[in-house]
Amino acid sequence: MPKNNVVVIGAGPAGLAVGLSLARRGRPVTILERDLERPPDNPADAFEHWARPGVSHHRLPHSLLGRTRRTLREYAPDVLEAMLHAGAWENDFGARLLRDAVAPGDEDLVAIHCRRPFFEALLRRTAQDEPLVSIVSGAKVEGLTLQPDGTAAPRVAGVRLHDQTVLDADVVVDAGGRRSPIRSSLKQAGVPMPTAQTEPCGLVYYCRYYRLADGTDYPAWTGVFGPSGTTECVRFSIFFGDNQTFAIVLGVPTSVHSFRALAREPIYTMAVSQFKALAPFIHPTVAEPITDVVAFGSLQNVFVPALLNGAPPVRGLHFLGDAYCHTNPLFAFGLCLALDYGFRLGHIIEEHPADVVGQALAFAEATSMEAEQCFHAVAEEDRDRTLAWDGAPPSGPWLGRTFAGFVRQCAQPAVMLDPIVARAVLRRTQLLDLPDDLMQQEAILQRIIALQSALPKPAPGSVPSKDELLEIVAKTTPAPAE
Ligand SMILES: Cc1cc2nc3c(=O)[nH]c(=O)nc-3n(C[C@H](O)[C@H](O)[C@H](O)COP(=O)(O)OP(=O)(O)OC[C@H]3O[C@@H](n4cnc5c(N)ncnc54)[C@H](O)[C@@H]3O)c2cc1C
Repeated sequence: MPKNNVVVIGAGPAGLAVGLSLARRGRPVTILERDLERPPDNPADAFEHWARPGVSHHRLPHSLLGRTRRTLREYAPDVLEAMLHAGAWENDFGARLLRDAVAPGDEDLVAIHCRRPFFEALLRRTAQDEPLVSIVSGAKVEGLTLQPDGTAAPRVAGVRLHDQTVLDADVVVDAGGRRSPIRSSLKQAGVPMPTAQTEPCGLVYYCRYYRLADGTDYPAWTGVFGPSGTTECVRFSIFFGDNQTFAIVLGVPTSVHSFRALAREPIYTMAVSQFKALAPFIHPTVAEPITDVVAFGSLQNVFVPALLNGAPPVRGLHFLGDAYCHTNPLFAFGLCLALDYGFRLGHIIEEHPADVVGQALAFAEATSMEAEQCFHAVAEEDRDRTLAWDGAPPSGPWLGRTFAGFVRQCAQPAVMLDPIVARAVLRRTQLLDLPDDLMQQEAILQRIIALQSALPKPAPGSVPSKDELLEIVAKTTPAPAE
């Protein structure tokens, strides 16, 4: 293994972004990845043929927001170009939703549709091709070695691998994802660490991927990313993918145990077919499933401040991507921030090559306000939706709702009616503005309020009621024991 002073733990989106960023600034970097397999040459094959046991959500649906595209345009336009060439496609909200009102500045209101392994394979290949990037596969990191300092926070000295070998490092980036062992190993070693803010997302996902039949197009749809909505007990959405693929996600409350039957294929299919916006997509002449139904639960919103009492808890160590902050996947903030902050951290390390405290302060300055706002915005929305699903009446100052409830129930539906509202709301959902910015835009909020009486009501029968869904899942749910 080459001796290198910047070591990155994890070759996921965050680790690859910081690696690419450093290498393109002339700095060698070693990325240690626990998984053994490298991606196949063709990114479209990565979904089927790239085993990634280190990332449990590798094959689950991902959306790439306008912010992700902007980050790629700025830092890695070659990756974006390769994606579009290999079968990803752009969803231009400006052209679709703003139409004649498109103005300069709207060019970032464009999301990208592809599957995560497809994207990651291309990012990995691009990083691998950089002469200054060394990716070591099968290298599972267990902890760090530290140089104690009697008066200040310890200084990182290296990383310890599963076979107990130690790799020297003067800067370590923990991009090991939500299950990275680094924080817990530091706590066990008695290193004071910032306290994590944590809130449950309150929902479980049931997803399945499909591929369109040859010569078939996606059925007609309306919406922003794709057909989606929130009913009295389900958040449903279609995630479009690359190369004629798409996924259907049903997110249901964790508290309704009988919904676990949605993991069974016939029950899931029966449930999906009750949604008028989803049913045409699963017609056998339109598409065929390419995966089983996959359940994903235990979802948490987590934000851990980068600094402790205004200073890094370990000098020379940076937390990035999901190891820094992760939120309900429905919002698609995770990969977006992992990439953007990864590219920025590379720049910051390069700007402060010998000053690891300066790096930490600059990174916290650049990211912590946004990361914390993302955490709070998503956690508030999760709390609000969970209360609504539990049958609690809405309450709050925004048309009788919390701000999260106002955004979900009043602002987002108004996107389809008014281009000025659409621009402001889309800039928030695409993470082009800070999540809290919308709350300060009084004229937009008044416009949203004025539009409420014009919002179309959902057609009767367009989504199943909670009772109807409970009836479907009860078809296989065993009767409770007497
Ligand atoms: C169900 C689900 C759906 C999601 N949908 C979206 C979405 O639509 N849009 C979006 O933007 N985000 C989404 N996200 C979030 C997104 O997947 C994450 O934010 C993103 O993966 C973070 O990237 P990362 O590089 O920080 O971590 P990861 O992608 O988890 O990568 C971590 C890497 O580190 C490696 N690793 C772990 N431990 C070690 C170790 N000890 N030693 C060496 N290597 C190690 C892993 O193998 C992996 O390669 C979703 C998340 C989930 C759970």
